[in-house]
Amino acid sequence: MRTGHATPEGLTRAIRTAELLAVGSELTTGETRDTNGPELAAALTEAGVAIRGIFALPDDLPLVTDRFREALGAVDLVLATGGLGPTPDDLTREAVAAALGEEPTVDPELEAWLRALFERRGMRLAEVNLKQAWRIPSATAIPNPNGTAPGWWVDAMDGRVVVLLPGPPREMRPMWRDWVLPRLRERGLGDGRLVRTLRTYGIGESMVVDRLGEALFRQSNPVVATYARADWLDIRISAVDEPATDGRRARPAAAIVAETAEHIRAGLSGHVWAEGETSWAELVAGALADAGPDLATVEAGSNGELGRLLADVVALARSEARAGEAAAALEAGLAEAAVAAARGAGTALGLALVARPADAGTVVRVAVARPDRDWSRRLELRLFQHGAHGRFRAAVAAAAFLIETLAEGPEPASHAVKRA
Ligand code: AMP
Ligand code: MG
Repeated sequence: MRTGHATPEGLTRAIRTAELLAVGSELTTGETRDTNGPELAAALTEAGVAIRGIFALPDDLPLVTDRFREALGAVDLVLATGGLGPTPDDLTREAVAAALGEEPTVDPELEAWLRALFERRGMRLAEVNLKQAWRIPSATAIPNPNGTAPGWWVDAMDGRVVVLLPGPPREMRPMWRDWVLPRLRERGLGDGRLVRTLRTYGIGESMVVDRLGEALFRQSNPVVATYARADWLDIRISAVDEPATDGRRARPAAAIVAETAEHIRAGLSGHVWAEGETSWAELVAGALADAGPDLATVEAGSNGELGRLLADVVALARSEARAGEAAAALEAGLAEAAVAAARGAGTALGLALVARPADAGTVVRVAVARPDRDWSRRLELRLFQHGAHGRFRAAVAAAAFLIETLAEGPEPASHAVKRA
């Protein structure tokens, strides 16, 4: 596929700021949620780019054109998804052409590619489809391996970049990952910021700040921030290289991040469970790999959350007691149920969970059993979360208890652990 012009003035600029546009009336009428914007924002943020805004816009040529014009005066990268279809309502190309004062024409190479694609699919190329072969002089076509809408990479004034990608996430994602992102990196993406995320469990946000001190969260390099997820409290550390100043040595970003992570780990002794995007299923899988055995689960009152939490990674046999009576029976003999689950499934380990609403919270009972060693351990705790979130957190608590128990190693006698 042909490439377009180089940057008009031969200029390139590092991409430090970006604006994201999601074009399509389905997004502004509330029919479809803009998932592209946040997804691309996360990737760019990770790369150290400051996002100046995520905008959803209707299929309205003047509105979209104005947005492009304004963004081009403000940020290094304008990244838009949607509005690249063949129908007249899709007009992102028109808007960019208008904003830059360029005239789109049918690109012969794109047209040949499009015709070949339609031929392979046994379809006739209608006149309207030719719009998808359009290009403006400053645009380079971005191949779309999963659809009929090529994207555009536009080298605009002052070394700024406009990128247009199709709206459907399954088309957008590979184009972004395989074509756009590597080229943005070549330009110089972000401020060289390094990011590390520590995943904490069993400690609240205020306690984290209490233990580590507010000053840590007020610095500009590193930037340390907490993010409460459904299953983790994440602490995100990011830093840039610090140049040498009077009396101070230069410090590379990697060293600043590493030092800060160590400081946080020490301050939150035992509460940092994982890093990055690690999931509970992956943690459990890791703990099981160390311990050897497979796992069978049985749960009641949790709406199957434990099975779902672990399903993707752990090879497990699971069962779910739905009715109140079954739940009560399970609760009465929880360790026995864990043993029975393991025996029934032929696994070495059994994990039983009962979640019950109580006083605007959730009471959680968990048992881990290892019948071949005549060993079991129990946990009882009360969560302040209730409803669906409470049930989910009950499953997380069961997974956490399993990991803790495996880390402690088998003990000969069974005994209960009680925690508030
Ligand atoms: P398009 O033809 O490029 O305007 O987009 C076609 C389809 O892609 C839409 O009907 C949506 O289902 C999906 N889509 C478009 N934009 C987005 C977005 N920002 N987030 C998620 N899905 C989108
Ligand atoms: Mg559309």
